[in-house]
Amino acid sequence: MAFNKSNSFESFENKVWLSSPTTHGEELDYITEAYKTNWMSTIGKNITEIEKITCEKIGCKYAVALSTGTAALHMAMKLAGQNLYGQPDVGHGTLEGKRVFASDMTFDATVNPIVYEGGIPVFIDTEEDTWNMDPVALEKAFEIYPEVKLIVMAHLYGTPGKIDELKAVCEKHGAMIIEDAAESLGASYKGIQTGVFGKYNCISFNGNKIITGSAGGMLLTDSLDAANKVRKWSTQARENTAWYQHEELGYNYRMSNVIAGVVRGQYPHLEEHIAQKKAIYERYKEGVKDLPVSMNPYDVEMSEPNFWLSCLIIDSDAMCKQVRGERDVCYVKEAGKSCPTEILEAIASINAEGRPIWKPMHMQPIFRLNGFITHRGNGRAMTNAYIDEKAVDVGMDIFERGLCLPSDNKMTPEQQDQIIKVIRACFE
Ligand SMILES: *Cc1c(COP(=O)(O)O)cnc(C)c1O
Repeated sequence: MAFNKSNSFESFENKVWLSSPTTHGEELDYITEAYKTNWMSTIGKNITEIEKITCEKIGCKYAVALSTGTAALHMAMKLAGQNLYGQPDVGHGTLEGKRVFASDMTFDATVNPIVYEGGIPVFIDTEEDTWNMDPVALEKAFEIYPEVKLIVMAHLYGTPGKIDELKAVCEKHGAMIIEDAAESLGASYKGIQTGVFGKYNCISFNGNKIITGSAGGMLLTDSLDAANKVRKWSTQARENTAWYQHEELGYNYRMSNVIAGVVRGQYPHLEEHIAQKKAIYERYKEGVKDLPVSMNPYDVEMSEPNFWLSCLIIDSDAMCKQVRGERDVCYVKEAGKSCPTEILEAIASINAEGRPIWKPMHMQPIFRLNGFITHRGNGRAMTNAYIDEKAVDVGMDIFERGLCLPSDNKMTPEQQDQIIKVIRACFE
């Protein structure tokens, strides 16, 4: 084997991260401006500017800057709950006891806000073409739970989902969409930016996203009334009175003007970051093209991802035996075959960071009692994972065979070549 671990390790002076903040200097100017003018709280020019820039970039009418993307999703759920079911008593969530359909293979922040509002997530399985919510499974879910009025869908790893098909199913059943575009800022579907397809949508500026504020998020909507509500709720729901008068439940969710300065400095570099991420994706694709693997797929005709994370999936017949328990994993090495665990270990051995695919929500202990619907119907009732060589539980299958590759903008081509080399060695 030509590959020499110790050499590769030395060539990586610094760790290659999965996706770490890439800063440019302008961030510091805007933070300093906030400091010098003493706009160090949740009001200021940085906030107004990034809300404006976001509306222009994405094409929505209103953007409300919040402390996190999760907070934005929480506000979206609350707006949807109020809109669909009316205002509940204090102490009850707006979605109390209501089922909400949600992407299954995603970060748990897509789903937790449903529970914050008292709702019950029902997970919709993933399709193989873009790794997002399967419209066929969504239609099945409406057959099983016709009362459902709300869905939340994510665009995983920056790849837009099957938006037209999902929207058609929702329109047919009169359901409202919340779009979780936290990972897909700058990605487009039929030339339209993600973040405008739902009624209330969210983006994130978390440290590992395509651009960052170190933290932060935004609620996006075309409804002035919704935007005003979120501005009020996110600043403790004060009424317009001389004293602190409260008629609604408040939250401390507004973005700081200092954080907004970081976001403001990052925005001019969004397209540059996307181009770097795309180059990384293409380089991996080329580097593994003769291996029994493929890259995370997207619809070349319909969409332009932001390529936030490059991922790999191993062909079923090239998987060595890998057994994952709730917390531990074992695998048995086989010639010519590999598994995500082996590849992640190989990547870690040269001081680079990969990650398993998001473990599907229906497989998470906390959601073990929640519904899960596949393209065949009730996924909880399924015992066989494959029918006619096609996975029934697509999310579980991608989780078992897939992984996220180091996708940091600052990774050099040489470092990426080293990573490709250790991946190739896993299949020897
Ligand atoms: C990052 C992320 C969020 C949450 O964003 P934060 O700003 O970290 O709260 C929500 N959904 C998805 C899919 C994400 O990746």
